[in-house]
Amino acid sequence: MLVDLRSDTVTRPTPEMRRAMAEAEVGDDDYGEDPTVNLLQDTYAELTGKEAGLFVPSGTMANQVALRALTRPGDAVIAGARQHVVVYEEGAGPINAGVTFLTVRDDRGGLDIEAVERAIDSSRHHQPVVTLIAVEDSHMASGGTVWETGALTAVAELAGRHQIAVHMDGARLWNSSVATGQTMKERAGVATTVMSCLSKGLGAPVGSVLAGPADLIEEAKLHRKRLGGTMRQAGVIAAAGLVAIGTRVDRLAEDHSRARKLAAAVTDRWPQAGVDPETVSTNIVVFFHPDPDVVLDHLKGAGVLAGTIGPGVVRLVTHSDVDDSGIDRACRALASAP
Ligand SMILES: *Cc1c(COP(=O)(O)O)cnc(C)c1O
Repeated sequence: MLVDLRSDTVTRPTPEMRRAMAEAEVGDDDYGEDPTVNLLQDTYAELTGKEAGLFVPSGTMANQVALRALTRPGDAVIAGARQHVVVYEEGAGPINAGVTFLTVRDDRGGLDIEAVERAIDSSRHHQPVVTLIAVEDSHMASGGTVWETGALTAVAELAGRHQIAVHMDGARLWNSSVATGQTMKERAGVATTVMSCLSKGLGAPVGSVLAGPADLIEEAKLHRKRLGGTMRQAGVIAAAGLVAIGTRVDRLAEDHSRARKLAAAVTDRWPQAGVDPETVSTNIVVFFHPDPDVVLDHLKGAGVLAGTIGPGVVRLVTHSDVDDSGIDRACRALASAP
């Protein structure tokens, strides 16, 4: 069997999820009548300490409806240059919400607070007004980096002072929570809205959840409809999400220790690849290589799939469908890579 380290989205639903899906109580969610969807939304809202939740088909849609609910066309949004909402959504933000991104460096995941302050100040100098700061925790492109709590608080304080909203792309907030021992609520406390993916490390087949103040979630629901994301008997998939939240969170720690093993193998083979195994705290290893295709082909020859997320940037992601023997195979393949 292939060891698929391309992404944690390749995870397949567990037998328990499939049973829950088969037995899910459902209704028409456009009427708010799907009890399983309602339970999932309430569960996520409670976990993140927000008033209300909204089930959406994808993490991208969660980010998009948040952008639309929190900004007006023409506004500027401050975000890290390599955040998902900026570079991995096919230009959706400017199309769907009419916003401009003011990007600041996010080399280690967090945002340089002085750069954020300068970006906010730019609106006093004939530039678009900033109404939102988007943060990403864990930060995928820097290798699943977990934000320091102090850095999150600093961004939130700055945003509060300027009456700017904060959206947290917490696609892998569960990973951050497990890695830090902090609750989802503690980590998302700084954010106006927060979203997380059920279909990544937790292994549910489909779906993400957005949470925030009740009035904003009402508005997000309209935007979900406008984007074609309103679903009907969505309890069938929400049921898997509930099982994911109920049974698949603690095991993320295994993915994290396996990622550290991969990081050590990468560093052994390429000491200059920009990876410090000590700092790999979640399930992603990202490293630089002058010719990623050569590495990917070699790994594939050994039955290991990896991917790229930018020019010269290789990514390995651990997840529930890869076990210790798969990681050992990947480490051996890395050791003999050209
Ligand atoms: C995967 C991901 C998303 C989007 O989720 P999809 O369900 O793939 O649309 C958003 N943000 C981050 C950080 C992600 O890793």
